[in-house]
Amino acid sequence: MDYQNTLAFAQALDRQDPLARYREQFHHPVINGQSVLYFTGNSLGLQPKSVKDHVGLELEEWANWGVEGHFHSKNPWYSYHELLTPASARLVGAEEHEVVCMNSLTTNLHLLFVSFYQPSAQRFKILCEGKAFPSDRYLLETQVQFHGFTPEEAIIEVFPREGEHCLREEDIVAAIAEHGDELALVFFGGVNYFTGQFFDLAGLTRAAHAVGALAGFDLAHAVGNLPLALHDWEVDFAAWCTYKYLNASAGNVGGVFIHERHGLDPDTFRFGGWWGHDKANRFKMESGFTPIPGAEGWQLSNAPVLGMAALKASLAIFDEVGIAHLREKSLLLTGFLEHVFNDVVGRFPGVSLEIITPRDPARRGCQLSVKLIGTDKRFFEALTEAGVIADFREPDVVRLAPVPLYNAFEDVYRFGEVLHQLLEGWEAR
Ligand SMILES: *Cc1c(COP(=O)(O)O)cnc(C)c1O
Repeated sequence: MDYQNTLAFAQALDRQDPLARYREQFHHPVINGQSVLYFTGNSLGLQPKSVKDHVGLELEEWANWGVEGHFHSKNPWYSYHELLTPASARLVGAEEHEVVCMNSLTTNLHLLFVSFYQPSAQRFKILCEGKAFPSDRYLLETQVQFHGFTPEEAIIEVFPREGEHCLREEDIVAAIAEHGDELALVFFGGVNYFTGQFFDLAGLTRAAHAVGALAGFDLAHAVGNLPLALHDWEVDFAAWCTYKYLNASAGNVGGVFIHERHGLDPDTFRFGGWWGHDKANRFKMESGFTPIPGAEGWQLSNAPVLGMAALKASLAIFDEVGIAHLREKSLLLTGFLEHVFNDVVGRFPGVSLEIITPRDPARRGCQLSVKLIGTDKRFFEALTEAGVIADFREPDVVRLAPVPLYNAFEDVYRFGEVLHQLLEGWEAR
């Protein structure tokens, strides 16, 4: 696409955008009386207007029915989580029995490690990306310690080459081969939260399996952002949160994927709870845990319906739009941001801001991470004051996520105007 950094060009793209009408289906924050340019859907997605009715319905049903609502409300709470499964499965490319929504992301990862990280003295190492999200690092540290290993001996981090910001797939695959039969698990963020790099999950899974290790992914920044095909890629397990691109409200329930070759095997060990127990006999309240076949057999507790109602509202939008259509717009929109950004920054030779996200659109979603060189955190604060909601990650990176569901091409153009003004002021200091 031959982009032009002009208002007329941005507005023309908005007019041709088949998804433009979804913008109106979300609440757009007005902060201190100022409507903002919201580029932080990768941290907390905006609220779909439909959420209020979905949550309101469950509040009403609770008022009307009390405990009877488990079976008699419009969407019986007993099986409420099942309402989230078909759309979730479509988003991650899974069979329905491979997916369930429950708990929260880090909790789910620990539970999945119970099943999929069972190290032996010989095979105990976990290979991950350097600079993984902190919660994932704490997960790995404490998991290996729990099994009597030290992080130093058991965690292999793969880093970018000198002078580069992103990992090369060939370096990851080489590291997997190098640790070979000592490797228990390859565990990566699907999209690295810091750089926005989207990893070749099928390739990493193949490389892991080739040495006899399992492959698991944290999809916090990938789900709702990129089309995924976890089943076909033979991924062993994955987990995600729903408050980032999935717009389901802060801290809401997460989702998990367990490939059917593990999920349908009753001998795959997992921690048990009554909600994972055989549905037909759940209320017999007997001892002897018999898991439900598939991912549902990993559930522990009954479903938190109010949060799930918000997720249900949001997933309905994804189902209507389709992740393939979102991706089409996302490629255009992120490409436009890249163009506008480089155009504006190119006018100011005194400050260099560098995009560290891969330039190849196939290796990124809708996030561009910008390294501040020649400016500092005050620059980010000035951006916020000027009405751009982005986020800052220590030590020196600003992340911008133009979200195709509710960001417009004009937002990106306006961002370029703000950036220009700020850089002008910065140079004049
Ligand atoms: C957002 C995010 C988390 C957050 O975990 P919670 O358990 O939901 O608080 C964890 N890992 C990654 C990679 C994330 O991006």
